[in-house]
Amino acid sequence: MSEGSPLRVMVIGAAGRMGQLTAATVAAEDDMRLVAVVDPVWAEGGQVAALGAGAEPRPASFGAVQEALAADAVDVAVDFTVPDATFGTVSAVLRAGVDAVVGTTGLSAAQIDELDGVRRAHKAHLFIAPNFALGAVLLMRFAQEAARYYPQAEIIELHHTGKIDAPSGTALRTARLMREAEGSVLGTAGEAPASLAGAPVRSGEPPSRGLDADGVRIHSVRLPGLIAHQEVLFGAEGETLSLRHDSTSRASFMAGVLLAVRRVRTLEETVVGLEHLLT
Ligand code: NAD
Repeated sequence: MSEGSPLRVMVIGAAGRMGQLTAATVAAEDDMRLVAVVDPVWAEGGQVAALGAGAEPRPASFGAVQEALAADAVDVAVDFTVPDATFGTVSAVLRAGVDAVVGTTGLSAAQIDELDGVRRAHKAHLFIAPNFALGAVLLMRFAQEAARYYPQAEIIELHHTGKIDAPSGTALRTARLMREAEGSVLGTAGEAPASLAGAPVRSGEPPSRGLDADGVRIHSVRLPGLIAHQEVLFGAEGETLSLRHDSTSRASFMAGVLLAVRRVRTLEETVVGLEHLLT
């Protein structure tokens, strides 16, 4: 890509909820050009979904990422696919020397390490964010701060019924960040007075007490009418503190996606988390 020319962007999973909106958003930006959209639903040459008024010229559509990479010169690929597909699609992108912005959740730590190796070998750049919404990132920051004072916390994450993975990537990352926060006292409740200890879990009951991730129990709710919501609850003697973020529209993710697309090529390492791009 030459200096000053628009970034050539490909959206993978472009027929999905996030992919459609990302494609339309990219197409409307002056410094970007939507060159290709990829989704298996177009393997049979089906119609590209309505991408909005900004999507001229129309992007080329492909059923598989390898076909798109062979046909079009691309600077950045944005991946909003499904947990089972994303490792393969992102590997293919990086192997082609193309930078990747990954919003799909569900990649394991081992898979991220492997993708980092591919990125290095092919001199590409990789950015991964389990949540592109500003408020969700701020919630994680505030939760890290509270984890320095409260030894016990639980997370309730609530999403639409189409979400495949549970718990959400955002909840897992929030728990990890809370646990790793400097001065975190999370998980030390065992040493605290008995009144601060957690409710006992009888054998056979763990499912109703959520999943234990990094010492934080996560409860996953899936209901129609929801988009993406998270509440972190801290408890101590005689008080609770609740931090909550609600994405009431997928538009909340788009500013973060655009920031990542613009910044990914400047990253020297694989970066996980939008908080690292916010100043
Ligand atoms: P969706 O099911 O609506 O869309 C996924 C799309 O991926 C589908 O159209 C599917 O056909 C396509 N797909 C499947 N395999 C593919 C492949 N091999 N190549 C190309 N396309 C493929 O899902 P969604 O609601 O758009 O969410 C997508 C992902 O983004 C999920 O993992 C979700 O958790 C995540 N998400 C992340 C954020 C964030 O801020 N990072 C926000 C919302 C959703």
